[in-house]
Amino acid sequence: MFTEKLALQLANLKQQGLYRSHQVIDSPQGIQLLIQGRQIMNFCSNDYLGLANDPQIIQALQQGSNTYGVGSGSAHLICGHSRAHYLLEQELAEFTGRERALLFSTGYMANLGIISALIGKNDFIFEDKLNHASLLDGALLSTATFKRYRHLNIEQLIVQLNQNQGEKLIVTDGVFSMDGDFAPLPDLVKIARDYSAILMVDDAHGFGVLGENGGGISEYYQLNAEQLPILMGTLGKAVGTFGAFVAGSELLIETLIQKSRSYIYTTAFPAAIAEATRCSLRLIKQQSWRRLRLQSLIDYFRNCARQLELPVMNSISAIQPILIGDNFHALKISQQLLELGFLVTAIRPPTVPKNQARLRITLSALHSESQIEQLLTAIHHCYHQLFKEIR
Ligand SMILES: *Cc1c(COP(=O)(O)O)cnc(C)c1O
Repeated sequence: MFTEKLALQLANLKQQGLYRSHQVIDSPQGIQLLIQGRQIMNFCSNDYLGLANDPQIIQALQQGSNTYGVGSGSAHLICGHSRAHYLLEQELAEFTGRERALLFSTGYMANLGIISALIGKNDFIFEDKLNHASLLDGALLSTATFKRYRHLNIEQLIVQLNQNQGEKLIVTDGVFSMDGDFAPLPDLVKIARDYSAILMVDDAHGFGVLGENGGGISEYYQLNAEQLPILMGTLGKAVGTFGAFVAGSELLIETLIQKSRSYIYTTAFPAAIAEATRCSLRLIKQQSWRRLRLQSLIDYFRNCARQLELPVMNSISAIQPILIGDNFHALKISQQLLELGFLVTAIRPPTVPKNQARLRITLSALHSESQIEQLLTAIHHCYHQLFKEIR
């Protein structure tokens, strides 16, 4: 019975164009990936600054493993919290201009652990409908009353805030992961103040990339700890390593250390990763050329895509989705692109809303203008062929 049920579920997913599968990668992360013996141009990584395979960071990782070995041995609160973790937390606090920072093993776990530690049964949580799955799951785990407002819709959020009295947490992605647009943080800061709500931002796609020093969306909008008291960021995207953190007040961090179950009950990530991350943070601050280069490639991409009349979305970030709509159409274009030598994944529900399947193109500081042109020419070709076929 059980196996039949699983088989039926999988068959249904296939039938709807929702089946997911891996690509096996035989090379380091980068602009070129080796897949099944072929060099493929990569346009779907979150390694926005091209740091995931940086020689200096690799060296820091190697030195870190010489000093600390491989495994961390236990959770942070037992014996897994090395000097490298300790220093990385201090450097993250300083970088974000917050009193303290706390490391989590992944961003997914950080979001579950932060939200569920801070609010509970009699409280209220408000989230943008397009927030990352981990923020939605954190709200469900918290058992607080959970309200979702339409994407970027401040008016609806205000209505919801007026209808619900009690402890309130407003949570949003800073840069939306599948759309690439920004949350209206200055407005949200004001609303949080007016309604005595606490504001939490997930800066997974802004940290390292936005702001003059790469401090992320909070630096971009110049928001201090009072305005934005809970700032979460990840280390596996622009930072190029692994893990996540939350930055905020002493009181916030101490509370999370005592109460956050996904912090307490999991193994610390390896100390060598912490050393690699410390190196990456130094490069992020020093090498502003990576951010400038990325921004100029984003502008270039958008200009070219507009000239080709491709349906780009309203994004000024490194995430540049092209909306397709139908799951099978998105899958088909993605497969054709792979045949032509480009890796662009088709993002489908439930990651995005129904009928909004898309090609999620991401740019890196290491791409070239010519590579972007080649990609867009290929997409243009596939796009028009598809719509000729279905017409
Ligand atoms: C990737 C991502 C996460 C999860 O971070 P991991 O470290 O990959 O677990 C959380 N929030 C957002 C918005 C993300 O894009």
